[in-house]
This record gives sequence, structure tokens and C-alpha cells, in this order.
Amino acid sequence: MLSTHFVKEIHPIGDQQVTLTANHYNPKMVFVYLRYVTLSFQSWEKKKRVCFNCKSKTLRPFLVQCVEQNRREEHGLVEESLDKRALRRKLTSSEKFNRRGFAEEKEATQLLMNSEFSSTLLQEAKAGNNEIRSGQVTVKLADSYGFCWGVERAVAMALETRKHFPKQKIWITNEIIHNPKVNARLAELNVQFVPHKDFVRDFSAVSSEDVVILPAFGATLSEMEYLSNLGCQIVDTTCPWVSKVWNSVDKHKRANCTSVIHGKWNHEETIATASFSEKYIIVLNIEQAQYVCKYILYGGDKNEFISKFKYAISSGFDPDTDLEAVGIANQTTMLKNETNAIAKLFEETMLKKFGPQELSKHFIAFNTICDATQERQDAMLHLIEQPLDLVLVVGGFNSSNTSHLQEIAERKGIPSYYIDGPERIGPQNRIVFRSSSSQELIEKENFLKQGPVTVGVTSGASTPDKIVEDVLERVFMIHKLYCNT
Ligand code: SF4
Repeated sequence: MLSTHFVKEIHPIGDQQVTLTANHYNPKMVFVYLRYVTLSFQSWEKKKRVCFNCKSKTLRPFLVQCVEQNRREEHGLVEESLDKRALRRKLTSSEKFNRRGFAEEKEATQLLMNSEFSSTLLQEAKAGNNEIRSGQVTVKLADSYGFCWGVERAVAMALETRKHFPKQKIWITNEIIHNPKVNARLAELNVQFVPHKDFVRDFSAVSSEDVVILPAFGATLSEMEYLSNLGCQIVDTTCPWVSKVWNSVDKHKRANCTSVIHGKWNHEETIATASFSEKYIIVLNIEQAQYVCKYILYGGDKNEFISKFKYAISSGFDPDTDLEAVGIANQTTMLKNETNAIAKLFEETMLKKFGPQELSKHFIAFNTICDATQERQDAMLHLIEQPLDLVLVVGGFNSSNTSHLQEIAERKGIPSYYIDGPERIGPQNRIVFRSSSSQELIEKENFLKQGPVTVGVTSGASTPDKIVEDVLERVFMIHKLYCNT
């Protein structure tokens, strides 16, 4: 067995972790060693190390993918000699790390974007009063909807990349954005997705000659490091608003605060954000925030706490000691009002526990709510104040910001239908849609009423206007066929 002088012990802990004990820590040696070790774990594992050489008592987590005897797949390893911020800087300043796209391809790409994703019908409506009439149907569009700046930039960069590297194999670590049609279009252009299972990406087919695109909501630090070590060309389309959140978790760490991330623990953006923070807890909503704040003030059952947040806390998280000082961060697409309410709740909790003089040592918050998310949510709130018979919310079903727009309509009690494309509207005046809270598809007949009808329409930040136009054309046709009295 290789390197037994180097690795002292390797112990499984339950079926989720192993502890690797090394005589002297060296990431490359760990890497080499793990290539030859057979472990019975199938997925990314959190591993810890103790360096007997430097007598470090700190158990620092790093990530590797387990290796089966005949099938080696090794992945990123966080360089522990650098802190995460320094490591991110090092990686992003490398020659093969492109964050700007390719200027020489921009003009042609813009033409392609216009022809594939924009809509003349919607552009004309935007230039007017955001209303479209056809027969007895009046469509009222939200004041702000559709592609946000960050998404448009990411899609354009992906297209530029394809044009710039016409012969190379191009991969993308995840969906470029949460829209199935845009992703399908990239697949047609032979931009391949890195396969993954249970949040574990399998990079074994990616070679140093390839190009890898990181999507708008980013990639984890260990993925970035793995790709950088591999030596492939990286094109990073991460939205600057998302990077702003990563900067804020850096600041939390420097202020010795635990990051409280308002988001979904299994959302790619939040997974990436968590990978850049040292200590964190992810809270989904105000109820979970209230639970945490109650624990801060009055204590509670530690085991219950850890079990409740088992997928949403950093390795070794101890609620008794790691909630003394907190900083607030968010997944950029969460409901703005909820993020604000969560921040306020933590601020009040710390104020109550430590008093006004000490508050700044125990609570920090930076405004990281993305403008585009905020504008679309505000526009939706304005739209539903108008007299409407129903609302259509158009966007990919895994788009967090789109489901929040649907949630706003549902709270108002207007009949509202969340659809991902025109195919969801069909003969017999039927619609197949989703609600904001369930993955299940619901079918409804006669969703358009007879006679004049007013339809409010919005779309998520990852939805091209062309898809909204196709939905509207379908609505006009179905109303004409089945509802014209
Ligand atoms: S919604 Fe905001 S954070 Fe997300 S890609 Fe768009 S601009 Fe960036």
C-alpha cells in the first residue's frame, strides 16, 4: 500500500465520514493515497485531519471523493494552508480562469441571443404600457420580469465560449441557469453537463484540454480547485451579486461570526456559498430562524438542534458555542421581505442577549439582496393589486426566484398558475401547472373563463421573453377556440 508512512490511520465514523490521521499533512499526498485506498463510501465525504508533525489540534475539514477499488474518481481538495478567501483569489487570478467572456465574440453572440431568446411582442409592450390585447384577452405584464442582468450575462458568456472554442470539448458543471429550454439549447450546441448524483459531480471524463463553464449561481470552492489543478480552461459566469454574498461570508469569518444563510441547503447557489464560509447554518424560513433564535436566548436540546439542521450546518457545528456572534447572508433569490425579517430577528435576539453596547460584536449584516430579485418581487406585488382574473407565472420548475413570484400571487388568493412553457396549456382549455410549495403537477380544465378575461403575467429571472411570448400566443388561441362568447 502506498504512503503508509504518511497516513497513520483511517477510521470510518458512521457511514458519512472518515477521519484521516496523517503524520504530516500534505494535500497532494492525501490525494495520491486516496487513489489507492478502497473505501466503502460512495459519495463526497467530510474528512478531518490531525497533523502530528505540527501538533495542530484544529480539525480542519477537507473534501475528497471516495475511491472504489476499480473505479477511481478523485475530486477537489481544499488547500488548507490558505484560508478560503485567499484560495478563491488565487484560483480566480489564474491565467486559465476567465471571468469576462470573450470580447471578440460579443457582437455575434448578441445577435444570436436576440434571435433565440427575445420577443418583439414583449418589447413593444414594454415600450407601451405593458399591456397586450388580443380578442377578448387583456394581458397585463409586470413592470419587471424575465431575464435578469446576471442570467443574460451568463448565457451570453456560455455562447461566447462555444464560439471561441469551436473544437474543444465544453462542459458545464450544472445548468447554466434554471431554465430547461435554455439548457437544452446549450446541449444542442454540444455543451455537456458534468454528470452528478446526490450533489456529487463526477469529473472523471473532464480532461485538461477541455473547457469548463461555471454557471450563474457559481460552483463550490473544492470544484473550482479541482478544475484549476486539472489545468483545464475555466469560464466563470458566476453572477457578481452571488460573488457579493461570498464576500460577505468572508467578512463574517474575519469578524469571528458564524454565517446564517437564508436559503435552501440543497440549492446550488447556497451549496457554493456554504463552501466559502467557515462556520455556517442555513435557515430556510422565518420559522427555522425563530427556532435558532430561541436556542440562542434560552438554550435547548442540542441533539435535536443538530439533527434538525443536519444538512444545513458546517462540520463540527456546536450551537452552544457557534451562535455567540452571527452575520447574515442569503441565497440571492429568496423572498426579500423574509430575508429582512430574518436579519431583524437575529439582530433583536443579539440585542436582547448582549445589550446595545455589545451588539456590534455579535451581529453583522450587509445588504446582499439582489436588485433584480427585489425588482421582480416588487413588480409582482404591484401587478396583483390590479383587477385580474388569473395570474400566469412562467419559469423553470427548479427556479427558486420564479417559485417565490408564484408564492406572492398565492398569498393574495388570486388563481395563479406556475408553468414552464406553452406546452402546459392545451386543448379543452386545460392547464397543467405547479404551485409554489409542491413538486406535483396539477391539471385544471377551463382555466380561462368565457368572455373577456384579464391575465396578469410575470416570469422568473431565468426565463427568456420568447417563452413568455409563446405562452401568450397559446392563451390567445385557446381563448379564441373555447371561450369566445
Ligand atoms: S437573480 Fe440576481 S443574483 Fe441571480 S443571476 Fe440574476 S442578477 Fe444575479
